[in-house]
Amino acid sequence: MKVVTCMKLRELFDVCGIDPMIMMETIVEEETSSVILFKNKKSEIVYVNQPFFHKHQEFQDNPSSIYGKTDFDLFPHALSHAKQAFADEQQVMKTGKAINVIESEGTDQFGRTIIAHTKKYPVYNHCHEVIGTFIITEDMTNDIATLRENQEKNDLLTKLNYQLTKENTTDSLSGLYNRRFIRSELDYLYQSFQDEETPFSVILLDIDNFKRINDEFGHAVGDEVISYVGTVLLNIKRQLYPTMEPCRYGGDEFLVILPTYQREGARAIAKSIKDAFDQHIFSYEQFHETIGMSIGVASMRKEDKNVHALLERCDHRLYLAKKNGKNQISY
Ligand code: GH3
Ligand code: MG
Repeated sequence: MKVVTCMKLRELFDVCGIDPMIMMETIVEEETSSVILFKNKKSEIVYVNQPFFHKHQEFQDNPSSIYGKTDFDLFPHALSHAKQAFADEQQVMKTGKAINVIESEGTDQFGRTIIAHTKKYPVYNHCHEVIGTFIITEDMTNDIATLRENQEKNDLLTKLNYQLTKENTTDSLSGLYNRRFIRSELDYLYQSFQDEETPFSVILLDIDNFKRINDEFGHAVGDEVISYVGTVLLNIKRQLYPTMEPCRYGGDEFLVILPTYQREGARAIAKSIKDAFDQHIFSYEQFHETIGMSIGVASMRKEDKNVHALLERCDHRLYLAKKNGKNQISY
């Protein structure tokens, strides 16, 4: 075939002597997956290619019985599809414009909705009169099922990943964030403070005389007290300060991280926490006591060289609270 510059397919056929009939036969009859049909003006089937019979095996024994059938015969259980298909074909013939549609053709033997991507074109005779439609349809049911399976797998992975991250950053006894979380969260907040001057504060809490609880009532009661502290802090978060991040710092020490909070806000939250413990007697087996808490509060300052400086200041205030008689807040 010689190289020519043709703007129209018709020119190419003329110039190169291409036989359009052989070309059409090649496209339609060599096709192995798309179903191709010709229909007349009444939407009756006048031609189907081989893949049609893979999809409609009921016609395999008597292929010529397909001629003259419409979608109403092919899809008796999907009448709305048949009606739509008929309307689409009438529109294509009336307007002379091809259409491209996604169709739902009822359900297959696995109960899956059959989805097809269908293109419909007008067919003309030699006098340029529309005499029917030319239809190419591809079954997408398997593609969609695969996509859906992949989506489900992705959702499961995301869920597992979330659980893993949560387990990795949660202390099981208190239900609060653990030291791993503290480290990464404080690094992040320190960076935002450096970059954008976004403030943040911390509250350090230590249970008063916890050793005595362990010694007098047993380690199991001590564990219950730690779990109770976790519950109280999470309740305060849920009910009053959703952005606060209560963490177990280790042993009987707890750290509440307060993104965006400055000194005054942090003090108010420390007071809310202290009030919550003061106002409730915790009971477990023989143990009935309010839990005393010593609390230090500190906010990030420009002169702090790192997060460690902030934690040291907070720890020093906690030490002062203990030294001044325990069960109090030191700013
Ligand atoms: P202070 O009032 O000065 O804070 O004294 P304290 O007795 O609370 O503090 P201290 O640091 O002397 O004792 C803390 C104890 O907490 C020591 C340790 O055995 C105990 N402990 C640490 N982790 C756990 C735990 O997970 N469960 C229990 N039951 N005890 C723990
Ligand atoms: Mg203590």
